[in-house]
Amino acid sequence: MRRVHVIGAGLAGLSAALRLTSADVEVVLWEATGRAGGRCWSFHDSQLDRLIDNGNHLVLSGNTAVLDYCRRIGSFDRLRIAPEAALPFVDLADGARWTVRVPDGSRDLLQGGLSLPPGVGAGALLDTARLLSAGATRTVADVIRPGGPARTRLWDPLSLAILNASPEDGAAHPLAAVLRRTVLRGAAACRPVTMPDGLGPTLVEPALATLAASGCVPRFRNPLRGLKKQDGRISALVFDASEVALGHDERVILAVPAPAAGRLLELPAPAAGQSILNAHFRISPEPPVETFPLLGVLSGLAQWIFVRGDVVSVTVSAADGVEMHDSDATLDRLWTETAAALAIQGRPVARRLLREKAATFSPAPAELARRLKSGTPWENLHLAGDHVASPLPSTIEGAIASGDAAAQSAVA
Ligand SMILES: Cc1cc2nc3c(=O)[nH]c(=O)nc-3n(C[C@H](O)[C@H](O)[C@H](O)COP(=O)(O)OP(=O)(O)OC[C@H]3O[C@@H](n4cnc5c(N)ncnc54)[C@H](O)[C@@H]3O)c2cc1C
Repeated sequence: MRRVHVIGAGLAGLSAALRLTSADVEVVLWEATGRAGGRCWSFHDSQLDRLIDNGNHLVLSGNTAVLDYCRRIGSFDRLRIAPEAALPFVDLADGARWTVRVPDGSRDLLQGGLSLPPGVGAGALLDTARLLSAGATRTVADVIRPGGPARTRLWDPLSLAILNASPEDGAAHPLAAVLRRTVLRGAAACRPVTMPDGLGPTLVEPALATLAASGCVPRFRNPLRGLKKQDGRISALVFDASEVALGHDERVILAVPAPAAGRLLELPAPAAGQSILNAHFRISPEPPVETFPLLGVLSGLAQWIFVRGDVVSVTVSAADGVEMHDSDATLDRLWTETAAALAIQGRPVARRLLREKAATFSPAPAELARRLKSGTPWENLHLAGDHVASPLPSTIEGAIASGDAAAQSAVA
């Protein structure tokens, strides 16, 4: 039986390990921390006395790698796939509410079938055309007209949600790639997919159980410190207390975030991007949830609100500029905006503010040019992770697809 060492038990590492174990390969899964899931995980929060996610994650029905991964680990039934390709929004500045709806096919799209925010006209199609043909060095702001409702009600929120960056900072290419795989494919690829049981019970724990059934249990608290190289191959893995020499047919999949991959390989890699803030509020009584358990918010600090039972979770992307020294003031503000957006009264019975530093890799054009390829100069080393060269920005879809591809290369 061949042996592959997978370094990192985030979604990229888990998907690689799953592919390998199902191909009858022995997998040794090494993880630096005491848990799996990486940047995508859930925990029981003592303040709220509820299981909460580290941050809201939105997936769309066009994210086929994620859906397939859930089928493989038996958690597909835990996904809540919205019946319509529609996202509701509220603008706190004037109280306007609308729903962006994606029609069935691209012909309907060109014939005006896309329902856009109030004040956004056909010019948005020209913006889209410019975005789709933008060069690799251009930012979103380089190709989208400044000012006006199209910018504030469409492109700013899309850039923040998809790139975790403002249009000035984020590259046009990855935003265009996401639009190609979702909106341009029509409604079937744009239905919002949420995880009412949480990220851990849907994406992480079932993967660990599937791996355990094949005899693969992650070796937690084992940060890889170095890779020894000899004759164009990785010859040993260096950990704090031990060194693991690799036999001639052993391979390695390095599934760590971009900055860690760059350090371990001594190669330039994309820098970390901005942090994402999430405020979690436990509400009593439970807020009424309409068909869509999420809501986009404009003109406030809050950007997205997800409702799960009696917990309301609010996302602020590209949040490096938000001070944390007065988290009560930030929570107060986010709650005021949330109550207005959901039109609910009262105060939460418990609340928690979380900041995920380096939530994504930087989507700036210069950083994207440093994305590493899955194949490396070392014959038995393959890379996985959301940062590995692909058209996509930092996403679960990119992470899982990269793990699948690295596993395929490792057994080819
Ligand atoms: C708050 C937040 C919100 C997000 N929202 C969305 C969203 O709405 N939609 C979406 O698609 N994506 C979203 N993302 C991005 C998504 O979570 C990531 O792209 C994805 O989880 C990355 O997976 P990964 O396996 O590539 O990396 P990671 O999850 O970072 O996993 C890497 C693993 O490697 C381990 N590791 C690091 N160094 C070493 C070492 N030296 N030795 C051993 N192990 C090591 C780490 O501990 C970690 O477990 C969000 C991220 C955050 C933080």
